[in-house]
Amino acid sequence: MAKRNIPVKKNDEITIQFEDLTHEGHGVGKLEGYPLFVPYGLPGEEAVVKVVKVNKNFGYGKLLEVKRPSPDRVEPPCDVFYKCGGCQIQHMSYDLQLQMKQNQVKNVMRKIAHMEHVPVHATLGMDDPWRYRNKVAIPVGENDGELITGFYRMRSHDIIKDMDTCVVQDEVNDRLVEAVRRIASSLGISAYDEEKHTGVLRHIMVRTGRQTNEAMIVIITRTAELPHQEELVKELTETYPTIKSIIHNVNDRRTNVIMGRKSKVLWGEEYIYDTIGDIRFAISAHSFYQINPPQTKVLYEKALEYAAITKNDVVVDAYCGIGTISLFMAQKAKKVYGVEVVPEAISDAKMNAKINGITNTEFVVGQAEKVMPWWKAQGLRPDVIVVDPPRKGCEVDFLEAMIGMQPKRIVYVSCNPSTLARDLRILEDGGYETKEVQPIDMFPQSMHVECVALMSRVDE
Ligand code: SAH
Repeated sequence: MAKRNIPVKKNDEITIQFEDLTHEGHGVGKLEGYPLFVPYGLPGEEAVVKVVKVNKNFGYGKLLEVKRPSPDRVEPPCDVFYKCGGCQIQHMSYDLQLQMKQNQVKNVMRKIAHMEHVPVHATLGMDDPWRYRNKVAIPVGENDGELITGFYRMRSHDIIKDMDTCVVQDEVNDRLVEAVRRIASSLGISAYDEEKHTGVLRHIMVRTGRQTNEAMIVIITRTAELPHQEELVKELTETYPTIKSIIHNVNDRRTNVIMGRKSKVLWGEEYIYDTIGDIRFAISAHSFYQINPPQTKVLYEKALEYAAITKNDVVVDAYCGIGTISLFMAQKAKKVYGVEVVPEAISDAKMNAKINGITNTEFVVGQAEKVMPWWKAQGLRPDVIVVDPPRKGCEVDFLEAMIGMQPKRIVYVSCNPSTLARDLRILEDGGYETKEVQPIDMFPQSMHVECVALMSRVDE
């Protein structure tokens, strides 16, 4: 191939027009066909950009000045938006955010799934796309002998010091984080030092049930002991009556994973409760629970609509967490089987079935890719299968077992469009047809997008 002529060098300052957006929300401009990706650039804008990196087929630029702003450029309400790695697209109007997410899903359906013809609907967004998160896990550091909490600066592990609120976080959680930080600081508890692997307090996690207002605080330390734990608990519980559970979790490894495996209850219950629709859920510290309550309802309603369950149907809910989707389906189905790898989540799921008087469910702890082939070998032939895997998608063994079970319909819930598209392709080759894909905005202001896809079996 002829050597490509790269029209820019590092540190050049150039004027460029943005034509498109990457899936990370970066503006894409071209110079003589050579694409330059520029964070915070918006389509239609003309801008002055400094070239910061030059690769063979594309480069990166830094936005210096927007000469002609897009009508979709908005002032980010967060003071630390341009430093923080949490949100990526607060500078975009919400309409453009929704459109970008739909396009991203369309792109992977074309490029990865090779299913250009499948309808990808407009993203279902929120009326108020702020302060939606019900859970925060924030790192703790030290500055001038005081504890500080703040998210990491982009692509680093430096804590942003001047961060006192997070605009996508429930205010109640913001206040509880601040309370734990302040009280721990006054008690002289030290912060964990990542480089030296010394110090005590690593992260503070808070989760509040949006409907019940019940809060759980998880204090994550490197050390097996939490110094001054009685004073800490006393002051927190006397001042903040919504706290229903305080958990101490120990993570003594050098790792980016926030929680360790060992937890103990310092005060109150092992779980908090929340409700979605007419079902009540117990949620413990290690269990996954959707972070955007209003959109969770939208997501589950869509999954239920696609599942179209009737009263004689047998259903599998794979990657079921605390049994949220399972219990909604159990209200309509003959029987629901759930599988999930986190043991605490399965014990929550069993308890959730019980407290809601639901008796037609069976929950199993294990890896979905092991349990599905086993269920298949046992002769289980579900009518409908719902899957909701983590970002890496499903294992091939899992997909093959699912195809072998020959359900009428598969409902695939996904937080990563690329692995969704990859897996839909495999299922399609196994005799299923993708009918439609619905993107849902679970994570406004961030580049992430959730999807629900409906597949049905092609009858020979
Ligand atoms: N459907 C649930 C949970 C979805 S999150 C809800 O809406 O709340 C994905 C879940 O998959 C998590 O609970 C995670 O613990 C679980 N998980 C991750 N890898 C798994 C695997 N290999 N097998 C089974 N479950 C897995």
